[in-house]
Amino acid sequence: MLTRREFSSYLVTGATALVTSGEVWPASKPEALQDQSKSLDCDLLIKGGTVIDSDQKLHGLLDVAVNNGRILAVSPNIPEGRARMVVSAKDKIVTPGFIDIHVHCFDGVGTGANADHYCLGRGVTTVVDAGSTGYPMINAFIKYVVNTSITRIVALVDISALGIVVHTKDTMRNLDWVNPELTEKAAEENKPTVVGIKVRLQKDIQGTNDLECLRRALQAADAARLPLTVHIDDSYSPLPDILKFLRKGDVFTHYLNGHPNGVLDANGKLLPAVLEARERGVIFDPAQGSSHFSFDVAEKCLAQDFLPDTISTDRLERPVYDLPTQVSKFVALGIDLDKAIEMVTVKPAQVYNYGLPLGTLRSGTEADIGIFEIRDGNFEFMDSARQKRTGHKMLVNKAVVRRGRYFVNEN
Ligand SMILES: [Zn+2]
Repeated sequence: MLTRREFSSYLVTGATALVTSGEVWPASKPEALQDQSKSLDCDLLIKGGTVIDSDQKLHGLLDVAVNNGRILAVSPNIPEGRARMVVSAKDKIVTPGFIDIHVHCFDGVGTGANADHYCLGRGVTTVVDAGSTGYPMINAFIKYVVNTSITRIVALVDISALGIVVHTKDTMRNLDWVNPELTEKAAEENKPTVVGIKVRLQKDIQGTNDLECLRRALQAADAARLPLTVHIDDSYSPLPDILKFLRKGDVFTHYLNGHPNGVLDANGKLLPAVLEARERGVIFDPAQGSSHFSFDVAEKCLAQDFLPDTISTDRLERPVYDLPTQVSKFVALGIDLDKAIEMVTVKPAQVYNYGLPLGTLRSGTEADIGIFEIRDGNFEFMDSARQKRTGHKMLVNKAVVRRGRYFVNEN
């Protein structure tokens, strides 16, 4: 056991060395670290794992100390004596809690899954409910789901008043149900839980009215000063006619779908409008869901060096399962593991304004942490057309920390 003075000097020494190497602690916060170091105890110490935190450019054997729900320190060989609870992460990876920017978690309504079971229980500490409800139901969603879940949940308001709580098709056939003023009002009144607006553009959702639905969704997003997430799959209008309206920070979700009006031309080349949209800062998110992901399209995009910005799930059912499985799927397609983890931590943290820093293990931030095992073997992954690919690594969550609380996951 270290004395208070020894412990203090340990941390300060550690901090100085690490700041010099530019690896662990931000140089701008030395006083905060010294203040925290005066406290001898920490609530939780995660020992001996491989920490992967691309926000701080960390990849190595490091310990993580948590106190009062926040990250106290990330450093090599933090002494056990100071911790109330010590957990071994030997042979495991330790990451910031994953962030899934496309789920539906209005549990018990429509296709909604239980966030604590399917997300937190798989190492996902923050989710964005991608427009399960429109303006009439968003209050109920916040009251009964957001406020009662351990998983951090924020929401997009769907421009269709029906959202997807009644059914998923035909929800914008009648434009009376597509009201930008009431959508904006609901978004404004429910900030900061509401972080964006959502619109789904697909022939069997609004027929020939997709550009009008998009216009109304952009009007609501503009007025509420929020990003717009646009589901585009088998749209009536050609993709370039839609994409040209998307602004920097708007999200194109389901972009790896294998249906008409996709991102590729007849020769499998990315459309110029797609490259222009990326250049402009549109976010490309592959949310597989029930029918929106094609290995063929994904492989052609990757071959042209067009990687997703983020990885998400959409509907948490077979063959999507959960976010770690989707990460493993992209690793099977050739994306480096660290890069894939960045796509579920640092990158999605930048897409919306969550009101606090996420996707990082920086000292002082809320302690949302995932502990994962990487299993080696032959694992079969499936796309929406039931095409298969075999990968050799599977990420499996073993434990998760949410705002300092430690949960074991029996996977
Ligand atoms: Zn969805």
